Amino acid sequence: MIGTKHLIFATAVSAIALTSGAASAQNLVMYCSVQQSWCEATAAAFTKETGIRVAMQRKDTGAALAQIRAESANPQADVWWGGSGDAHIQAASDGLTQEYKSPNVSELRDWAVEQGETTGYKTIGIYSGVLGWGYNTEFFEREGLDPPLAWSDLEKADYEGEIQVANPNTSGTAYTALATLVQLYGEDEAFDYLKRIDGNISEYTQSGTAGIRAAALGETGIGIAFLHDVIQQAAAGFPVKAVAPSDGTGYEIGSMSLIKDGPNPDVAKTFYDWALTAEAQGLALDAGAYQIQANKNVEPAPEAPKLDETKLIDYDFAKYGSAETRSHLLKRWDNEIASQR
Ligand code: PLP
Repeated sequence: MIGTKHLIFATAVSAIALTSGAASAQNLVMYCSVQQSWCEATAAAFTKETGIRVAMQRKDTGAALAQIRAESANPQADVWWGGSGDAHIQAASDGLTQEYKSPNVSELRDWAVEQGETTGYKTIGIYSGVLGWGYNTEFFEREGLDPPLAWSDLEKADYEGEIQVANPNTSGTAYTALATLVQLYGEDEAFDYLKRIDGNISEYTQSGTAGIRAAALGETGIGIAFLHDVIQQAAAGFPVKAVAPSDGTGYEIGSMSLIKDGPNPDVAKTFYDWALTAEAQGLALDAGAYQIQANKNVEPAPEAPKLDETKLIDYDFAKYGSAETRSHLLKRWDNEIASQR
């Protein structure tokens, strides 16, 4: 059961565009894995557009996958909106999500459609974001330190206890970082690197955005994060600067999936189609979300990270989203990194 105290019901602000009288009595249950502000804005706009009430629960990516898995005998939610694509691919391969090819797929950028093709349309790309980190400029100036510009810089003793990154079991951001390092260095060398930087990490947080929020507040020097999350903090006036690692980095295709045998399948498809439109994706910026949107008609914000100006790895989404690889890497992280704390 979903605890009602965690649910946010978006209600219609004005009576527009009700598709039918019956629709107004319908509910959609959504698990949302992007930032709270964007989750809420999207739920409210969908309700305003259709009259369908949205019961929304915000969950970090890995936590959403775990919940969907735990509920699979009796699914409680209809749609999982947002969160890094690796976990959506694993949900697809584990049979937790429903195939659906929306007519609006034709409006999407190629990388978003590829996410659908990889999984037989059991998931679809809705945004992309580049992995990197943000650092607190005031802290670095005060300490007279050079900011880290490459992954290898994060090993410097200067940064002891000054880095926060999330736990890849709960966080899509942190899993993207783990999979990126494995693709950059090879698996054994990536785990050696993670052991070497462990002394610089003060905390493995549950949420992928906790580290950059802490850096924004000056509670830590560096937060490993998606660059759009760093930009969001900078746009809000905090003294943080984004770094796209110069030795190469990974990226995410944030995704959306319909949950298999969810309680409201028709309403779920209505949401899915709407969520791919330029109108829906255009809500992101006002909600402080700087991800690059999948719909071709939504221009990235000028501040958004530029995919073509970043040294990106050729991220193998099918492999690193597969149940076999993802489960193996997470188990190894538990055994070799978390257990050493
Ligand atoms: N917030 C934003 C802005 C994101 O883009 C993502 C991942 O797609 C998340 C949160 C996911 O958070 P977490 O790393 O805790 O799963």
